[in-house]
Amino acid sequence: MLEQRGRESVSSITQGVKQLPQLLTLLQKQTPPPEQPALGFFTDTSLCIGCKACEIACKQWNQLPATEPDWSGTSYDNTQKLGATTWRHVQFIEQIGRRVPAGPELPMLQQHSVPLPELPVYQPMDRADAIPETPPGTALPFFNSDRWLMHSDVCKHCANAPCQEACPTGAIIHTEYDTVYVQQDICNGCGYCVVACPFGVIARDTQGDGQAHKCTLCYDRLKDGMKPACAKACPTDSIQFGEVKTLKAQAQERLGHLQQRGVSEAQLYGADDKILEGGLHSFFLLLDQPEVYNLPANPARPSNHVLPTSLGTIIAALLMGLMSIFFFKQE
Ligand code: SF4
Ligand code: SF4
Ligand code: SF4
Repeated sequence: MLEQRGRESVSSITQGVKQLPQLLTLLQKQTPPPEQPALGFFTDTSLCIGCKACEIACKQWNQLPATEPDWSGTSYDNTQKLGATTWRHVQFIEQIGRRVPAGPELPMLQQHSVPLPELPVYQPMDRADAIPETPPGTALPFFNSDRWLMHSDVCKHCANAPCQEACPTGAIIHTEYDTVYVQQDICNGCGYCVVACPFGVIARDTQGDGQAHKCTLCYDRLKDGMKPACAKACPTDSIQFGEVKTLKAQAQERLGHLQQRGVSEAQLYGADDKILEGGLHSFFLLLDQPEVYNLPANPARPSNHVLPTSLGTIIAALLMGLMSIFFFKQE
């Protein structure tokens, strides 16, 4: 009996030794894939019709569960926000009575000293490419008194990503396409990235695996040379995908066209390097101030707080030390 057991343990040791080279290859660091040009999104909100095809295409491709409709009473948007299982979200922003119409009512309002809005009243231009004025109450977003702003929100794939800075396990990386990706097999669900993201993008799946999830910029599709699912599904080209450098040039051109046609509030968000000291690889053309779209004007990175907080701690420690010396001497 003892002899048989001895033989069994010898054979299992020999087997282990045989498998050692295989195990060692698993531990070896793999060479990273060659770097590619940075890829991203230019989301032009002036073209968005709020169809939510992007939101659904994202869920379908990434096999994310449907979000239960939530009737907030404040908007027709029933999915409300980005989350662990909603990686694209189309915001409906309702603006009512933002300016008076430039019609026959205008002199009457002036006569009754009704304060005029800050926005300039649109003057129809005598040009073939001028955007015609539309009556209040229609869905066109440019010159109406009442309008809906549609905004398909997504991860900004920040060049200097706050979520990546805060992640203690190294689960969040920049891929070869310079997109921000969460490696699910490394994420431990601590949630540090969630509080670090200034845009409220990344979230923990509390109903599922407890880990952090967000848009991958369809990394699997990129590897196969395909467009991300949301950009593919968008019927108006509001979501444009491509090399960040090219997209930025297109965005500047589009902004110029809109401003030339009288849409003076149009502006780009995240297309320059100012935001988060490096810019966003998923940036936007907005028709109003960023805050209207729930986008912070000056988002911060966790590392921005390190110096002031450390200085505060050092000063507090010095003061405590001086006070203890003072009290110790008195005794
Ligand atoms: S938007 Fe938020 S989740 Fe996306 S890369 Fe930037 S910090 Fe990370
Ligand atoms: S790029 Fe892919 S994962 Fe990201 S929002 Fe679009 S469809 Fe979803
Ligand atoms: S971004 Fe495109 S697909 Fe998404 S809601 Fe707007 S128009 Fe529809």
